[in-house]
This record gives sequence, structure tokens and C-alpha cells, in this order.
Amino acid sequence: VDSVETVLKVANHFPDIKKSPGVLRSISVTLSEMGLAEDAIKYVNEALDMLQETPDNNPALPFYLTRSLSICHHELGRNEETVKGIEQAITLLPADWKNDEELVTNVQWIYEEKAEALRMLAKNDDAIQAYATIRTVRSEGELDSWLLDHMINILLEGTEDSNGAKSLALLRSWSENERMFWFDMMVENVDTWQMNKLNEMAAQNAHEGMDFLLECYTNYMATISPREDKMAYARAALASTYRIVIGDNDKAKDLYKKVLHHNLRDLEQRYMYDRVVYEVRRSLAEIILQEFLECADAAKKVTLLEEMNGISVPSSGSNDYFTLASSNVSIMVALMSRVVGQLTSYQTTLQKTFDNCIEGLSDTVGWNDSHSFRLLAKTLASVEGLEKDALIAMSCQFSKVTDEPEADDDETKGKIEEGDAGENTEVFSNEVALINSVEKPTDPEAVEIAINRTTEDSIKEAIQITETIISTSVMENGTEKLQGTTVIEEASVEAPSNVDPATKIEEGASNAAGEKNTTLKMVDGVTEEATPDPFADEPKIAANPDEELAFSGLTCDGECGRAWDKWEVPIHFCLLCSNTDLCPTCYGKRMAQNNGDQNTFWRQYCGHDHVYMKGPIKGWKGVKGGSWRIEGNDGVVEEKLVQEWLKELKGEKWPKAWDAFWKRLEGVKNIGF
Ligand SMILES: [Zn+2]
Ligand SMILES: [Zn+2]
Repeated sequence: VDSVETVLKVANHFPDIKKSPGVLRSISVTLSEMGLAEDAIKYVNEALDMLQETPDNNPALPFYLTRSLSICHHELGRNEETVKGIEQAITLLPADWKNDEELVTNVQWIYEEKAEALRMLAKNDDAIQAYATIRTVRSEGELDSWLLDHMINILLEGTEDSNGAKSLALLRSWSENERMFWFDMMVENVDTWQMNKLNEMAAQNAHEGMDFLLECYTNYMATISPREDKMAYARAALASTYRIVIGDNDKAKDLYKKVLHHNLRDLEQRYMYDRVVYEVRRSLAEIILQEFLECADAAKKVTLLEEMNGISVPSSGSNDYFTLASSNVSIMVALMSRVVGQLTSYQTTLQKTFDNCIEGLSDTVGWNDSHSFRLLAKTLASVEGLEKDALIAMSCQFSKVTDEPEADDDETKGKIEEGDAGENTEVFSNEVALINSVEKPTDPEAVEIAINRTTEDSIKEAIQITETIISTSVMENGTEKLQGTTVIEEASVEAPSNVDPATKIEEGASNAAGEKNTTLKMVDGVTEEATPDPFADEPKIAANPDEELAFSGLTCDGECGRAWDKWEVPIHFCLLCSNTDLCPTCYGKRMAQNNGDQNTFWRQYCGHDHVYMKGPIKGWKGVKGGSWRIEGNDGVVEEKLVQEWLKELKGEKWPKAWDAFWKRLEGVKNIGF
């Protein structure tokens, strides 16, 4: 059947048969499946009218017809009618429906449909109840993991359970088996968003919440063999709970190390496993570095450096991805080496990272520029005398400095969809934050695409991404000029990635966080004014309307979780953490904690007495035509081609800084003058 005409033609061809409610139902189902819900409703109603006069010999027909009707209403977005229809359909079930397998399945479905419609109506408690009712339909009396997932996500994704109490109560109300089904699904998918939601729930419900969560993990881990790959995922998740919520770094370290020693059994899991290990290594490195910083015992410091060296070489270090992505850990090793290790290895490590950055910035590939600038900033900041250049590198992270070869949109798109040339599709996100992620991608499709893509080239795409091609047209001298721009957007876990880049352009100067504070929101159908901007007191960075941006994003890793795609407020880029940025407000809170304030947030972030680079550089005017511009105190704008600047760094400034480093005299100076 390929058109409504055919359906109707067939129906009209048999005028006598058309009179039967069963046939009318078949027609309506076909119409409904074709997206013609309005037409389908007519046939269902006709059939129901006929049943009023002459009951059919199928006693379940009134139920089926009424369900069809509710499905049509659902498709048309009439959720009230859907719920009413479903409730009526249930009353029409024949008495012995539980003996009919097909009916049992349909009743399960109808409750799922009811839950969905109730959710659309923001009746979340009722929706949860509808899912729970499915237990009574099924002989085993328990729900499948995906139904449990739908049920709990109503709370996890919503805003009404801000203290996690409802989620906790719901999880407690499940049977032990059900909790294990659901944990298994979460762990197997490495759903870091859900894991973090559970962390948040536990943290907000004090001992009761945390005891419950730890018990769940313990019970779950007792159901799987230590050799199973998902044991590694479970351990990584639990370690993260110990680290960022409980603050028990010893327990976290133990678990992280077990993950690193795990032997992957199912090679199909390579991508997932590498992703987890990547985060585990970074987290472990941060713990070791923190211990190193706080340790005053020279011998212990040497041991910690050895420990760090032991984890810093990735097991699958044969590919470019890990060479670049583990550079953040390499810088930590370098910093530790400078204190208690070989100074030559301090230089070698930084030299390697520096070369990688320069290479990444000198090619015609734009996607890696933001990552390379950030890494370059950190590298330069680690050597005396290059502070200004470090700040310039940090300032460039949102800028478009690479003129990528012009490509026809379709052609480029085709290329990317084929997963061609890893270099185009690979993105080292600024904030992969797989374990510590706090944002969930709001676009499930984007994530699905990203996950599907991973099968093609698991190593090249160690991070979930989606690509979006945008073509922007600009008015230049009165004529419209089309600029084809390939935009690679991150879709792993970062907030800006979830914003449709097209929307970004339309929004112009506005940003997601700013909007959040000014829009009116609907709560239970009542419009109320949102709270005043809690960030009003923050210093702002003036916009540079003519600067050229590269569509890269940055998320605050503190409490606010705001995201930016250009400079709007100063950002504190941590020089010790593997990848932490703090907005002025969260930086202020972190400083207060360093001074003894209690952390009131549900998780820990950054570290005690860390050091930062605050960007952008004073007078930053953005990049235009491949040149960065900085306005001096005298109002004169200094301008330099980024490529020229990089050449100068590589050829002169960097070697000179090392000359000075090796000639320096430390520990003695003129005194008593
Ligand atoms: Zn913040
Ligand atoms: Zn930090």
C-alpha cells in the first residue's frame, strides 16, 4: 500500500466488506501508519458506531479500536484525548484478557503510550505510575531495563526533583532485580550523564543517598565477573563517585588503577573502553599531581613522580589521538619532573607538546585549532619568559585562524558522512568530560549518529562528535557573498555542542546562559519571571563585532555549567588540572574554598591552591584575516599574522626561552645590598 488513494480504492472496491468493523480497523491502522491520523479517526469512529448496533464476535475489538483512536490523537498531539482514550480502552478489555498473549502485549504498550502522553502533559507522577502499572500486566511482575530507564529519566531529566529525593525514593521502590537490570544498562552504555545524576542525587541526600548508591554499585558488581569488560566501566563510575562526591582519593585511585590493568576481552568494546580509560587516566593523574603538590617529603615526591610516569603512557599509544589527547597528562609529568626529576625530561616533554601544537596550527585543518591553542597556552605558560605568548595562545581559542580549502557543501558533507579522513572528523573536545560530565546531550539523534559512527573507525573517533555544515552568507559591498564553512561540532557532553549552530548564528550576540536568565519560563502552565541574573556582577569582555570565530565551545567546569562560543567573560584556565576552565563566579567560589569555605556544591571541582591563566589577554580584539589584534594601553592596536607569530615562536622565542632556562641560576642571588 503506497498511498491513501490505494487504501480507499481497495476499501471501496469491496463495499460489503467495508461494513465490517474489523476491516474498518485495518484501514484505519494503515492510514494511521501513513501519518493520516485524521482520516484514520473517521474509520475508527465508523467502526465503533457499527459495534454499538451489532457486537462483533471478537470481544477484544472495542479495546483495539479505542486504542487505535488514542494513538491517532497522540499523533495529532492531543494528549488529553490520548489519556482519556487509553483509560476508556482499558475498561473495554474482555474479562479473560490475560490469557491472550497479544492482548497482554497491547496492554503493556497502551500503558507506555499513556505514560508518554502524561509526560507531554507534564503529569510526571502519573506518568511514572503508568509505567509502574505495567508490572501488574506482566506475569514476571518486573519491568525491563529500558522501561525502568524511561521511568527514572522522567525525574532525572526534569527539573522538579532538584534535591534528588524523588529519584532516590523511586529507585528504592524498585525490586533488587530491577535496580540491577537498570544499573547494568547504565554501566554497559557508560551513560556518564546518568551516573552523574546519581552522584548528584546521592550527594544531596546525605548519608542515606550515598549509602544507597554505594550499596547499588556493590550489589551490581557482585553480579558480574571481574574479568568482564563492564566491570571496568563500573569501577570507573564508582571511582568517580569516590573522587568527586565523597572526596576519598585513595579508594578512587585503587579503582582507577584496576581499570587501567583491565584486559579488554571483547574487542568490539575497544572504542568504549578507550574512552573510559582516557578519562580514568586523566582523573588519576590529577589525583597524583594533587598529592605531589601537597607533599613536603622529597622521597615521597619521587615516588609520586614514578607513579605518574607509570600511568602516563597510554596502553594504545600507537595512534595520533592518544599522542595529542594525553598531552595534558604529559604537562603534569613535566611539571613534576621540574621539581624532583630530570630537567632534561622536563624539556623533552614540553618540546614534544610544543611541536605537536605548532604542527596542528600550521596545517589547513581547522577543527583541532582550539585544542592546539589551549595546549600551546599551557605549554608556553610552563616556561619562563613566554607569559604574553601564552596569553595570546589562550585568547585565540575561539578564533578562526585556518583558511580551510573551500569546498562545495554537498561534497564536504558527503565526505564527512563517509567518515572520510579522520583528520576532518576527529575532534578533541575542549572538555570531553566523560566521567565528570554534567550536561547531557539534549539531542538524542546527534548522539545516536555519533555512536553509529564509532564502528567505522574506533580510534580515530575516540570522542563522540557530530558535524554540521553551515553555509553563511554575508553582505559585502552590497553583494551577497557565500561563505562555505565546515563546522565541526562536538556532541559528546558539552553544552555548546547541543546548540544547533544555525541557531547560534541567528542568536547573534546572545548566549545560552544569558537567555536562561532573562526568559520567562512556564511552570505548570503558569508564566513566571525567571530569577534575576546571578552573574550580573561578573566582569564582561566587550564584543569584537568584526572578529572571525571558529565555532569552538568552552564550558565552565565549576558550578554554573555555562557555555560560550566566544569571549564574553574572563575565563580562568587551570594550569594544573588536565582540562578545567572556571568563570569569574565559580573561580571566586573555588578561591573561597581554598581559604577555608565549605564546598556547598554537590561535587568537587578543580583543586586546592591551583594556578590559572586568566584570559583573554588585556586589549584582546580578536582575530581577523588570520591576524590577532591586541590594543595597548595607548590605544594603539598591535597586529600580527598568527602564522607569522607561530614562526617567530618556533624560530626565536621558544629556543631563547630555553637558553635562558639552562643559563639561569636558581637559589642564589645578591643579598644584603
Ligand atoms: Zn561557572
Ligand atoms: Zn585545577
